[in-house]
Amino acid sequence: MLAGKTALITGSTSGIGKAMAETLAAAGANVALNGFGDAAEIEAQRESLETQFQVKASYHAADMSKPAEIEAMMAAAADTHGPIDILINNAGIQHVSDIADFPPERWDAIIAVNLSSAFHTTRLALPSMREAGWGRIINVASVHGLVASKHKSAYVAAKHGIVGLTKATALDAAGSGVTCNALCPGWVLTALVQKQVDALAEQEGLDQETAKTRLVSEKMPASQFVTPEQLAGLTLFLCGPNADQMSGASLPVDGAWTAQ
Ligand code: NAD
Repeated sequence: MLAGKTALITGSTSGIGKAMAETLAAAGANVALNGFGDAAEIEAQRESLETQFQVKASYHAADMSKPAEIEAMMAAAADTHGPIDILINNAGIQHVSDIADFPPERWDAIIAVNLSSAFHTTRLALPSMREAGWGRIINVASVHGLVASKHKSAYVAAKHGIVGLTKATALDAAGSGVTCNALCPGWVLTALVQKQVDALAEQEGLDQETAKTRLVSEKMPASQFVTPEQLAGLTLFLCGPNADQMSGASLPVDGAWTAQ
């Protein structure tokens, strides 16, 4: 379905972004990976995408908090693959603390990685998408783009920001064949959430399974984690022809969290 297209996925060395890279490669897209991690493991991931799915896979280590590195990554991806057809803004970080104690440098980092990086990749990718008359921009927001939770001021502000950026991008791209949508997942059991499970287990003296159940049940009526593969499947739908007229939407995938 995506043969001949190229997808760039920020933060694709782990969790949700990694599953999206695999699903898009399985659908025939060449993929440009990005994110932090062990160099050998990332190279093994890149190689395995190429051999498993017969696509071209590249990797760039750009730090999404640094606009100059984002520009270098976008230029390198275009050199290797040609114009980017599918842009997935997924890299994200979290810090949990009361706003009065929230370290200002963590605020700056979260706004830079979770929000501003998507502005930079979008402004750089949009011209060639417009020229091609086709493009997909998918922003990985969160339920926290729609509602707030305690002690997550920077994350909630950044994710509400990216929901707004999604609408603004959709309007600027309207009629050009380029769409922009946001995914708003509830809890997904990735490295980002495992840290919060560990913190809860330690604070309350709980075992891992009880801490996971407590965390997921607190907000999600369905009491089950969303999986990275489910989000990757929705991404694939958004890349398909049935989503040609879907743009500017923020799609909750949250076991009815935001239905309350
Ligand atoms: P994760 O920690 O497994 O993956 C995050 C990815 O971002 C990794 O590849 C990491 O290396 C990369 N990254 C972090 N900082 C970076 C930086 N400065 N530059 C480049 N790459 C960087 O977490 P995840 O849960 O897969 O998170 C992916 C996205 O999904 C994030 O935007 C997150 O906010 C969002 N999200 C997660 C959940 C959840 O419950 N896990 C829920 C809603 C939204």
